[in-house]
Amino acid sequence: MSIALNDIQPGACLENDYAWSEQQRVACAIGGIYTALAIERVLPIMHSGPGCQGNINGVLASTNGGQNADTFLESVIPSTNFCEADVVFGGQERLRKLVADSVKYYNADLFVITDGCTSEIVGDDIEEIANDYAGTGTKVIHVALPGFKGNNLWGHSQVLNAIIDQYLPTAEEAAAIPKNPKQVNVFGVVPFYDTFWVATLEKLEGLLRDIGFEPNIFYGRDKGLAAVDKIPAAGFNLLLSPWVDSDVVRKLEQKYETPFFHYPAVPVGPSETNRFIRAITEYAGTDRIAAEAYIKKQEDRYYYYLNHFLRWIYTCRVQPREFFINSSATQALSLTRYLVNDLGFIPRRIFINEDVPEDNQSRILADFHDLDWKGAADIEVIFTADGGLCDQYVKRSDTSFRKTVILGTTWDELTAKTRRIPFVPVSAPYGDVIVGQKTYFGYDGGLALMQDIFNDAAAKGMGTVN
Ligand code: SF4
Repeated sequence: MSIALNDIQPGACLENDYAWSEQQRVACAIGGIYTALAIERVLPIMHSGPGCQGNINGVLASTNGGQNADTFLESVIPSTNFCEADVVFGGQERLRKLVADSVKYYNADLFVITDGCTSEIVGDDIEEIANDYAGTGTKVIHVALPGFKGNNLWGHSQVLNAIIDQYLPTAEEAAAIPKNPKQVNVFGVVPFYDTFWVATLEKLEGLLRDIGFEPNIFYGRDKGLAAVDKIPAAGFNLLLSPWVDSDVVRKLEQKYETPFFHYPAVPVGPSETNRFIRAITEYAGTDRIAAEAYIKKQEDRYYYYLNHFLRWIYTCRVQPREFFINSSATQALSLTRYLVNDLGFIPRRIFINEDVPEDNQSRILADFHDLDWKGAADIEVIFTADGGLCDQYVKRSDTSFRKTVILGTTWDELTAKTRRIPFVPVSAPYGDVIVGQKTYFGYDGGLALMQDIFNDAAAKGMGTVN
């Protein structure tokens, strides 16, 4: 059965539907603290309600692949636990004392004062408190993260903008820093929200190094402020996402005259990884022969391992050939390119549920049309804040013979189970499991995704899982 999207009302529930399929896929703006937490020895200080951190934790961390913060665990983040008395009398002086105590007792390189909805509405001045530390040698910045202003991606942007505006040197100060043409600052991968960020960045770093660049990544192990301090020295910034961080690289272009190279998809599988390597090599004017040698070596390796299990795939009793995606823009575009260009799958419908700003949507749509498939111009991409829309559509669609796979969040797994459709989690909230060092990035990532799809298809076909 084929139905028009207009037949489905956002938020509508069909008989026997599972209401939980319409749960959160993004967190509120205060989720931006996870961007700070991803930079080693950076400590957020929260001037927000006692439940705010817990609210964002599930979607972005604990139920998003079993993640937790590293240098400072969530349970030790200082918070004023803004309460009713603070609404009446203001909580600024309690915050001032909390910041003073945090500076005294925590061994952090940078303190980031954040507020939430209530303290922002009351009008407590977090900037004034950060300014108390100007010229003291203790680095304290401030960033407003009220949930009513946006989601965690908006919060992520606010944190990076605050670091650029308040922590990094001015354009005049940076003029004395020599540029390193090989250094590439990496933007676009959002820590924690992108469930695979740790391993993706690690593999991306290795790839860039192997083809002659000096990648500068700020999030994760052994990076910290030493990497942040190097931002003004970069030859160029790499923006690896459909739209997230585009404001950040533009700001850095304006402030430090650092150009940026925009590649909209995180490369998954050989076609896209080859294309990415050729594009960045051409942009930077680096050694093309070395890049082609790297591509040849990695492609040979990919096809060796593919051949190693190809017969099993041919004889698998369940052969997915079509897919739905209900996820972030980055995962939706990156996985679509691999599934269509390398595996020959047909996209049924793509739902992007992270509230993409309208002025980015037509450009992202053009990125989806850029596929090696004659039907690419007709691909249906739905930008929606209603994460349950995909569920409604799948339940009314023909998914017989289990030829269809769903890639989405842990909520979409419930849809897949009710229809016994193969399912692979790819986006927040990923599920109450350990994601560890998993990623679908690069040549190996393509193989890993193929394995996950066909393994679940086979298990559902055999009836060994629902
Ligand atoms: S929406 Fe406001 S009150 Fe709710 S968790 Fe976010 S910042 Fe806190």
